[in-house]
Amino acid sequence: MSWLTNFVRPKISAIVGKKEVPDNMWHKCPGCGQMIFHRELDENLHVCPYCDHHLRFDVDRRLGFLFDEDGYQKIELPNPASDPLKFRDRKKYTERLKEARNRTKTNDAITVAHGKMGGIPVVTAILNFDFMGGSMGMAVGEAILAAARLAVFQEAPLIMISASGGARMQEGILSLMQMPRTILAVDKVKEAGLPYITILTDPTSGGVSASFAMRGDIAMAEPGAVICFAGARVIEETIREELPEGFQRAEYLLEHGMVDMVVHRRDMRDTLVRLLTLLCNQGPSADVVAMPTSPLTPPSKGDSAETKKSQSKKNGTAPRRVTNTQNAPKD
Ligand SMILES: [Zn+2]
Repeated sequence: MSWLTNFVRPKISAIVGKKEVPDNMWHKCPGCGQMIFHRELDENLHVCPYCDHHLRFDVDRRLGFLFDEDGYQKIELPNPASDPLKFRDRKKYTERLKEARNRTKTNDAITVAHGKMGGIPVVTAILNFDFMGGSMGMAVGEAILAAARLAVFQEAPLIMISASGGARMQEGILSLMQMPRTILAVDKVKEAGLPYITILTDPTSGGVSASFAMRGDIAMAEPGAVICFAGARVIEETIREELPEGFQRAEYLLEHGMVDMVVHRRDMRDTLVRLLTLLCNQGPSADVVAMPTSPLTPPSKGDSAETKKSQSKKNGTAPRRVTNTQNAPKD
């Protein structure tokens, strides 16, 4: 093979010349296999226009989309020891860090930013899957602590956007210690009476799903996102049974009560703003679902269901309902 790769290929590329079109102009959709032009994909928030598959989305673009037009400020994050265990597998951990830092232009797999959504101040922490699989080491743990402290300080809701393979194995027990630490951190936000909202994107797994990511007062997920602790193949090999279709996908978790809603990426901002408005007692704005108006008689449950129904009829959309006829267990 080395003869082919080292000798023949350079000769051929020298004859053919350099490619004029960069490799990343076209993206292949992992859902339907269609080739999508990069501009079209960008305009569509990295959602496939053919099959609605949600591809991974750049951190800055996502923040830009979610925050108001005034933008957001990133905060400087604590910088714990980089390689406490002097870990080495095929490569040194320090080398892997250096590569990831150069590629992503960030110090670690997390960004914390604050700004306004729908005019409401919020603090957001977002994991970057591009940085060593969004894995949680000490730096991520410290950043989540910082985000929680900032949220409490600003009396702002905390929004956590996760995409992670789990704990960072190169930091061993120190990365596992971030699980209880981050849970305690987000509990501080809850104790202060502030909303903690999680947005689970593809994939959210391992130690991240087993800690702060699953602690949201409201847990939202993107369609088709894999959300799990152990991977499907590992489970299948362990229990030696075939797993049901759609296992560990966002919709499956919704059906089984693990997440509260599955929201399309283009509706994510509006949904967040609506939730924040309701949770932060800002008073409903014009585009919030209408509530019964009489302040003296609180609406009964039946009333609000009626209102919702008529509202959805007006908008021409059916209320989201969970149906589980296909996967229902047979007697
Ligand atoms: Zn597609």
